[in-house]
Amino acid sequence: MTAGPPQRPETVAIRVGRGAGRPGDPVNPPVTFATVFHEEDGRLGYAREGNPTWVALEEVLGALEGGEAVAFSSGIAAIDATLALVPDGSAVVAPHDAYAGTRALLDDAGRRGRLEPRLVDVADTDATLEACRGAGLLFLESPTNPMMAIPDLAALAAGAREQGLLVAVDNTFATPLRQRPLALGADVAVHSASKLLSGHSDVVLGAAVTADAGLADRLREYRTLRGAIPGPMEAWLVLRGVRSLPVRLDRAEANAQELARRFRDHRAVVAVRYPGLADDPGHERAARQTTGPGTMLAVELADAAVADAFCAAVQVAVHVTSLGGIETSLERRARQPLEAHVPPGLVRISIGCEHVEDLWADLEAALETAVRVVPASGDVEPRR
Ligand SMILES: *Cc1c(COP(=O)(O)O)cnc(C)c1O
Repeated sequence: MTAGPPQRPETVAIRVGRGAGRPGDPVNPPVTFATVFHEEDGRLGYAREGNPTWVALEEVLGALEGGEAVAFSSGIAAIDATLALVPDGSAVVAPHDAYAGTRALLDDAGRRGRLEPRLVDVADTDATLEACRGAGLLFLESPTNPMMAIPDLAALAAGAREQGLLVAVDNTFATPLRQRPLALGADVAVHSASKLLSGHSDVVLGAAVTADAGLADRLREYRTLRGAIPGPMEAWLVLRGVRSLPVRLDRAEANAQELARRFRDHRAVVAVRYPGLADDPGHERAARQTTGPGTMLAVELADAAVADAFCAAVQVAVHVTSLGGIETSLERRARQPLEAHVPPGLVRISIGCEHVEDLWADLEAALETAVRVVPASGDVEPRR
């Protein structure tokens, strides 16, 4: 995107990645199904190295994040490529409550001696910067999945870079419409586009974005070497999802804001973590570094039995893993083997775009059902 007036992210999401717009060109880039391409600049192109449908998606993701995007086969492949940016034996500082797949990847790298994971509470800036001593990479998530902790991205990026670390931020929950890690000082922003960016629970894809041309080259080289490439159809589906991201996000976020308040006031709820609540520990930080609190809630109920009964009782929301779809979904996260640190009654809820009153009617009825199943859970002491 070059000519024309400066454009806001809502417009960028819709405008960028459409090609030159010559007479007769399609308005949407086509899905290019090809393994081989005719000779260009002396090169015979092969589809593990590039595909025009990825390029269209990379243009819009890059423009939104303020860097060069490299699309991968999944979010975890993008994270793997980001971890590969630091040499063997490097220490990697990461959230103790990071996404379970990231934790698994770090555990594996630790066991094999490839990396030395240092897991910390990233909401604690001093402790995190202390852990950065002698490390190679600070890998952040904001908010963290599923605890919804908010690290101070600018302070951590500045402090870690001063110590010579590379800084990466998993921006999956916030999306570039709400948070731009590169502008806050990070070297790389990573995404699971399987979530909000695509938005319809129908595709797995990832991306890493950087404003450093050397890092972008290394990420692309890693993708080609390992073959961690997105399919053209997948890239097209994500591109299509990005076009409606701004409106989906506005609607789901407004729903989340209202539902967070109602959950907090319900007698069966122990605690709600949502940065949009004025008394949330991450509220002020989130207000400083994001343009909105997003669509994810962590709702803690009395124990695992109540939370399971709640999840089983919903009828509008769906009880599944994953998040970021247009439909509201929820899951008790301590069920995941790597999330034993998560309170047993914590339910992660990904708020979608349904009518807020239909959602609350469903969620409130499910809470009441859960309270009947486990009667003692009906009057918990709220933790604020
Ligand atoms: C889902 C998720 C990932 C992994 O992405 P995949 O596309 O499933 O590989 C990484 N980070 C966060 C925060 C996620 O929610």
